[in-house]
Amino acid sequence: MIRKLITRLLGKQPALGKRVEIPRARHQIDASRLPESALSVVRKLQQAGFEAYIVGGAVRDLLLGLKPKDFDVATNATPEEVKPLFRRALLIGRRFRIVHVMFGREVIEVSTFRATPAEQATVDGDERNARALADKHHAVDASGRVLRDNVWGPQEQDAARRDFTVNALYYDPSRDVVVDYHHGLRDLKTRTLRMIGDPAQRYREDPVRLLRVARFAAKLGFAIAPSTRAPIATHAELLQGVPSARLFDETIKLLQTGHALASIEQLRALGLHRGLLPLLDVALEQPGGEAFVMAALGDTDARLAQGKTASPSFLFASLLWPQVASHWRAAQADGVPAIAALDQAADEVLGAQSARLAIQRRIAGDMREIWQLQPRLARRTARYCDALLEHPRFRAAFDFLLLRARTGDAEPELASWWQDYQQADADARTALLERAARDGGDDAAKRRRRRRRKPARNDAAAAPAAPDTVD
Ligand code: ATP
Ligand code: MG
Repeated sequence: MIRKLITRLLGKQPALGKRVEIPRARHQIDASRLPESALSVVRKLQQAGFEAYIVGGAVRDLLLGLKPKDFDVATNATPEEVKPLFRRALLIGRRFRIVHVMFGREVIEVSTFRATPAEQATVDGDERNARALADKHHAVDASGRVLRDNVWGPQEQDAARRDFTVNALYYDPSRDVVVDYHHGLRDLKTRTLRMIGDPAQRYREDPVRLLRVARFAAKLGFAIAPSTRAPIATHAELLQGVPSARLFDETIKLLQTGHALASIEQLRALGLHRGLLPLLDVALEQPGGEAFVMAALGDTDARLAQGKTASPSFLFASLLWPQVASHWRAAQADGVPAIAALDQAADEVLGAQSARLAIQRRIAGDMREIWQLQPRLARRTARYCDALLEHPRFRAAFDFLLLRARTGDAEPELASWWQDYQQADADARTALLERAARDGGDDAAKRRRRRRRKPARNDAAAAPAAPDTVD
């Protein structure tokens, strides 16, 4: 009776699961397939007398027979105890302090078991309130969003702090056992994504978990448990309070890890595609925008499936292009010359975007170049073409032109001309330049002539089109 009362007074405590150890015969993880880097981190921590496990996505993916993207380690050693054990290790993060242990270019993330705090401080404002947060190990804002999560605790509490049951599995390579507190293995077998604890509360603590549902459902092809799905739409607006740098990171994971099309499908199905990423909203709403954006995302998925890389600048240049193209057309209609109009459109779109999603300066610079090269690719004169081929962003700009041509946003003839020009020898290049000059020099001139014959067409309402004039 008394116990019941205390629990009630303390409010809703997360349910701590019961520890279940799954032996090799049931988990079948092949420890020999794990990278030496992750194994050595676990070994070193254990030799120093700490508990250490491989945890999270790597265990989940190994159990599913997938290749893990990276390896995370969880331990009861504090970050200050972890760091001196390794030659190259960095303490990082403020909201969530962890240690990065470096092996060449590979990074093993080592996180200390998190506790479920008995009490939590509510601070005014958000993570920008540095003074209030300075001495806090755990803190939330007025909505319950966790601003600091650095209270250490035992493994059973750490398990309850993780997001999905299938992400809360721990693997100890020394004993060859998987530790499961929340029926993660059962959910893995039934391919179910289930939030640990009370889903609504977990979304309030960290609204990025809303996006993680979409991402893992897309990546793994899992069904979302009804109780995990139900509160999503009503909590979607909490994403507005998430710092833009975190949104940027999560967007990259959603759209650039090989399952972008499936992720968009999930975001739509969950009612998360609006307001989350204005760039995505607007891109999908622009006339012709959806076809363009989907083609770009499909290309990214295909590249990654072939083991090629995909650059965030190309991805974001594509996502924002329908909007840039529309501003570009409008500025030209106001009489601004094409290249200046494109600069202006880029400024407007990047400016509006940066408030929601922090696109790093270097990436924004590359995006701008990809866009700026588009009208320049239409100017096919010898001097221009040879300079363009030397441009560091030529390859990306040409791939971008191919994408535009495929979706009716640029002349397919221009794209195939550039394909030929790159492969041609000097004589063939001269012939190609002559042909371009004969055909009208550049696309814009061609369109001007065509327009004169068909003055009735209303271009403003048409799908994104190449510019009317260049320079
Ligand atoms: P991926 O394959 O994308 O790396 P992952 O499951 O490893 O998937 P990470 O973002 O690398 O995802 O996080 C590692 C683990 O940390 C997760 O599996 C989960 O247990 C925990 N985790 C990460 N982010 C959160 C979060 N926002 N809330 C709760 N737990 C989280
Ligand atoms: Mg991971």
